[in-house]
Amino acid sequence: MHIKTLVLENFKSFGRKTRLPFYEDFTTVSGPNGSGKSNIIDAVLFCLGLARTRGIRAQKLTDLIYNPSHDDGQDPSGTREASVEVVLANADETLTRAEVESAAGTDDVGDIEEITIKRRVKQTDDNYYSYYYLNGRSVNLSDIQDLLAQAGITPEGYNVVMQGDVTGIISMTAGERREIIDEIAGVAAFDAKKEDAFEE
Ligand code: ATP
Ligand code: MG
Repeated sequence: MHIKTLVLENFKSFGRKTRLPFYEDFTTVSGPNGSGKSNIIDAVLFCLGLARTRGIRAQKLTDLIYNPSHDDGQDPSGTREASVEVVLANADETLTRAEVESAAGTDDVGDIEEITIKRRVKQTDDNYYSYYYLNGRSVNLSDIQDLLAQAGITPEGYNVVMQGDVTGIISMTAGERREIIDEIAGVAAFDAKKEDAFEE
């Protein structure tokens, strides 16, 4: 499974609807400083509900909405909204039909060769709202997180490696690095279960 397409609408510096294709094996994004490369990663974190622990670069959710006077520090008023859509290529059925149906709360999820996760954030004058969708069905954050966890994508995981993480990993002790490898390999969950069993 891999990200096939990312669709940004009014998200951070992407004031126009932008569709970015991702390749199966490797995709790089290049551009001048401040052109929005890191904003693309923020979009993935935001949409997949991975933001809290992975350090999305925003003070508050509504800072993610495109703001034409962002660099002047002025906050626009009125109703505004941003959305990000991540299209996952699931032809290999990393996520099974049963798993997708269960997360969407319906057996009418359509084609599962592609899984579309969408998140919207909307700001009104006195409040803000956040919505998640799975193949067009309205769902909760926990539905998205539970589904993605079945494909090994978790907020604590290393599917997204941030700049600081790299220096963090370099300065770790061998034991700490081993813990990360165990986590990636899926061994850590078994270690935790083993420990629980010994305690009983
Ligand atoms: P670098 O090469 O320096 O890492 P980058 O390509 O990663 O740069 P980003 O950090 O993704 O750049 O983008 C920064 C730009 O995004 C800044 O110009 C900032 O003004 C703009 N930006 C951030 N949030 C918003 C927003 N809500 N509305 C409009 N522009 C925004
Ligand atoms: Mg950057």
